[in-house]
Amino acid sequence: MIRPRIFLKIFLSTVVLIAVTGLAATWLATRTVRDSVETETRERLRAQVDILCTLLATSPPTERNDVLQARIHALGARTSMRITLIRGDGRVLADSHRDPATMDDHAERAEIRASRDSPFGESSRQSQTLGQRMIYVARMVGSETAPKFFVRGSQPLLNLDTRLADLRVTVLGAVGFAMLLGLLGALFVARRVSAPLRAVSEAAAAIAEGDFARRAPVTTNDEIGDVGHSFNAMAARLEEEVTTIRRDQRELRSILRGMVEGVLAIDTEERVVLMNEAACEILDIAEEDAAKRPIGEAIRVPAVLATLAAAVKKQKEQTSKVRLPRGAIDRIVKLHASPLLGDDGAARGAVIVLEDVTERERVESMRRDFIANASHELKTPIASVRGMVETILDDEAMDLEVRERFLGRVLKQTHRLGDIVQEMLALSRLETQGARLATEAFDARVALREVVEDAAPLAGEHAVKLSSSLPDEACPVLAEPEALRRIVGNLIDNAINYSSQGSQVEVHARAQGEELVIEVSDDGPGIPTEKHDRIFERFYRVDEGRSREVGGTGLGLAIVKHLVQALDGRIELESAPGQGSTFRVTLPMA
Ligand code: ADP
Repeated sequence: MIRPRIFLKIFLSTVVLIAVTGLAATWLATRTVRDSVETETRERLRAQVDILCTLLATSPPTERNDVLQARIHALGARTSMRITLIRGDGRVLADSHRDPATMDDHAERAEIRASRDSPFGESSRQSQTLGQRMIYVARMVGSETAPKFFVRGSQPLLNLDTRLADLRVTVLGAVGFAMLLGLLGALFVARRVSAPLRAVSEAAAAIAEGDFARRAPVTTNDEIGDVGHSFNAMAARLEEEVTTIRRDQRELRSILRGMVEGVLAIDTEERVVLMNEAACEILDIAEEDAAKRPIGEAIRVPAVLATLAAAVKKQKEQTSKVRLPRGAIDRIVKLHASPLLGDDGAARGAVIVLEDVTERERVESMRRDFIANASHELKTPIASVRGMVETILDDEAMDLEVRERFLGRVLKQTHRLGDIVQEMLALSRLETQGARLATEAFDARVALREVVEDAAPLAGEHAVKLSSSLPDEACPVLAEPEALRRIVGNLIDNAINYSSQGSQVEVHARAQGEELVIEVSDDGPGIPTEKHDRIFERFYRVDEGRSREVGGTGLGLAIVKHLVQALDGRIELESAPGQGSTFRVTLPMA
């Protein structure tokens, strides 16, 4: 591609140069040759005319006569010059080439007139007789006012045109030869210049296609070689920069991918230029749907758009919080938008970080609820203890029997306080540990029998019939014995406490596949279905009065749920008002 263009440029400029030089040379040579021929002819004519004048001055001719004509004719033949002898009044007396009788008066010929006031009169003109350009040189003999005669010599500019034509042919031949040399030179230079340039151009095209390791071969040590060296240095620098940019991009992408927070950036035209997976997940959109699109089209969350717009408009960081509906629970997302500035301080767009604070807010609200609930739970027995102790202290004359009854209630409240504190500690341990319990394989039937036996006195107290049906063969369960006892014990206690006298409470265990299913059922009041979800929450009570009556802390089922989860198990409730309750615990078997 390059070669014809470079070749043509070099060749055409050479041709123009040679042509101009050739023309100038021809013109100059023609002028020089013509001038020298004319000068030479004139000089010769002058010399010969001068000699003739000198010879004729001794006996100046006055009339035409044959002798004179013959002599002039013979002289003309010998000198190869046309000689005309003219009397002072202009009459032609003799002429070497023509009959003077046929010739008109010559007094007004330019050369004759000019010879009157200067040694030689000269002129040159086309001769009608000979059809050639002639040089005329005349000399006067006599005085200006009384000229005796004029001798005129003339000669054609012989062979001038032929010589000039020869000269032109020679010059044109030289020009043609120079042009041929120019063509070869242009071809050679074009090849030398274009081959390395083409290599550079191909390397540049390859780099443009993404082959950053490509280099141009440098074969010469001249300016073109320098171009190749510079190009290769530039390519190396470019490769280095691109590698760095790609590495930075990869790192940035993996950082963004690994981030829990969503990150979204827009450019000055408010198009999405960056969006990580977390942002897609939080905003519930696909990355490919958002990339490069105007933010207003890609994202339909007004708060996100408004926060970004404010950051861009005010060129200041902006924060806000938004609630995004997601399934059953809303998601709470904290937005933190900052303007993006280039190195020159000019606005480049904005970036927004989306932080999902749902869990943090939930934990925070749980913590607040817990503190409120815990202080409420503790406040009641403390107030009751304080009231009773103050009454005892105030009333010195109190009956011993009344006092003992009061002290008995104080003791009961302190036990209750102790229970609450212990259960709160147990729950907090389970929650903060969040870890699993150290499990071991053991026969669940042994633990279950023990728990049922331990609950027998409570069952007796409430006149509730407590029974168990356990498998005949061993039930090796993978659990922590104390945790299992506490789970089942708690469920049995609740079943007894919330059932009325004469009710039935049954503990049933069976192996089911790889799992052990333990059910604690009662035929007590049952629990409304809409409360099943909340029953395992801390301090949640279906029947507030009954719970306090039986000394409940409101934490029992919360502890049970955490223990079951810590043992990799599940707990389900089947219950309806008036139809009793069944708590089903499923644990992995060993
Ligand atoms: P509490 O200390 O009040 O018993 P729990 O967490 O053990 O707290 O139980 C939560 C609530 O669930 C109780 O207050 C009670 O209203 C209800 N409950 C638990 N077990 C039963 C059951 N077997 N029958 C009816 N209601 C129950």
